[in-house]
Amino acid sequence: MNVPVRHLDHATLVGYSAGALPVAFAAVVASHLELCASCREQLRAADAIGARLIEQQDGAPLSASARDAFRARLEGAAPAPPVVVAEPAPVDPDLLPTPLRPWFGERYSTLRWRAVGPGIHLLRAQDAALGAQLLMLRTASGKRMPMHSHGNNELTLILRGAYDDVLGHFGPGDVADLDHETEHQPVTSHGVPCICVAASDAPMRFSGWIARAMQSVLRL
Ligand SMILES: [Zn+2]
Repeated sequence: MNVPVRHLDHATLVGYSAGALPVAFAAVVASHLELCASCREQLRAADAIGARLIEQQDGAPLSASARDAFRARLEGAAPAPPVVVAEPAPVDPDLLPTPLRPWFGERYSTLRWRAVGPGIHLLRAQDAALGAQLLMLRTASGKRMPMHSHGNNELTLILRGAYDDVLGHFGPGDVADLDHETEHQPVTSHGVPCICVAASDAPMRFSGWIARAMQSVLRL
């Protein structure tokens, strides 16, 4: 896989470091971290800042056990909260990123896609107990996806293939950290289908007939 060129926002990394992200967002962040040495480096810096802030806030040094926990994380000896493990990318190209496997299963080849429009397939994974959901979308190559905007924040990770939109080109491992002001209509690149996974804290708003079909399937 290519080295990702579009990375997590600093605010997203800090939120992740603090364990403050919703679980679905944390799963997407952790999946990018698995693929991106640059963001793993940034996360270590965010962890160090967080440790210092906690010390300042308490007006006293960290307890020995808390300091040990932070040190272990900084040295990569313990997993970061709440889902994760920032490991090297898996070697087998059929394997999903580790943080996504509890949601979707282990392998791309065993995903059970649902058709929601010409050339567009969808998978939805939910954690009912946590009220969280992740969407995985597979779009045929050279296809224009439905125009949509977002009610609030959305974090998308491109797993395979690529697309272009008003923000530029997005390839494997890249993340798109979008807010509600972004309306976009990605066009997938020629070659392999584009597969991305998205966490959203508000329903996406689609327009157009494919969009309406998708919306009814999603029951948004
Ligand atoms: Zn990155």
